[in-house]
Amino acid sequence: MLILGCQVSSAGKIYEAVDRAKSLGCNTMQIFARNPRQWRKSTLSKEDIELFKEKVKKEKINPVVVHIPYTLNLASIKQRFHKITIREFSQDLLEADKLGVQYLVTHPGSHKGGTEEKGLENIVQALKKILKGTKGVETKILIENTAGSGRWLGYKFSHQKFIFEELKQSPRIGLCLDTAHAWAAGYKIDEADGVEALLCEIDREVGLERLKVIHLNDTKDKLDSRRDKHADIGSGNIGTQGIACLINHPKLKHASFILETPKDGDEDDLRNLDIVRKLYNGE
Ligand SMILES: [Zn+2]
Repeated sequence: MLILGCQVSSAGKIYEAVDRAKSLGCNTMQIFARNPRQWRKSTLSKEDIELFKEKVKKEKINPVVVHIPYTLNLASIKQRFHKITIREFSQDLLEADKLGVQYLVTHPGSHKGGTEEKGLENIVQALKKILKGTKGVETKILIENTAGSGRWLGYKFSHQKFIFEELKQSPRIGLCLDTAHAWAAGYKIDEADGVEALLCEIDREVGLERLKVIHLNDTKDKLDSRRDKHADIGSGNIGTQGIACLINHPKLKHASFILETPKDGDEDDLRNLDIVRKLYNGE
């Protein structure tokens, strides 16, 4: 069975996101648990958390993925910012765990003002503190690959490899693959050979079993453009062939596919989800 969902809004009450995912026919979903462009202002009420968990169970949405806000930067070389990130990230992780969420996805961060090495070292230090301060939490942290624009780290999997090794292969850390980012970072995944090469590299660097979530997006930008702009499934350079290779790949049976395609309304999600379902060869 294809585990397929999309990014849904959690506007209003957080549990309303479950209804939105269900109405789109999703069996997994990704949400922001709070405003992604602000510092943390409030925590969720116990009642809202309970209702969320009840609905997730009833509607069989599994896994649930939360995306970390854009304001946080694990790689930041500014000390004050680094500290705020550790504090807010830890609070977000604890809240995700209370929500019963399986995965918390984060971008590795930007090393603006410093070197790649220093940025990677900062990510490791931040994650060490976060893991230490949240012992017993079951929600896993998934580190996403990036397009490599600006000073963003994580555009090649040797970066994730370094982080995982420094964290002694903690089972609390995994990988999220964004297909549009991979294309922009130079992975030619519009055909089977390119998909094989990408999966081989992931397996060699971090192990495919670490790959839990795939952000399934197309992009109109050129290969290796380092530009992060998502497009509708099949409308970009990855195309339906690349997408089909990924969703039907025998080594990705365990992964959850989540769309982050452009949308003005539900009809956009429904159209994209429908294209993916038609490309799927299984039951
Ligand atoms: Zn993504």
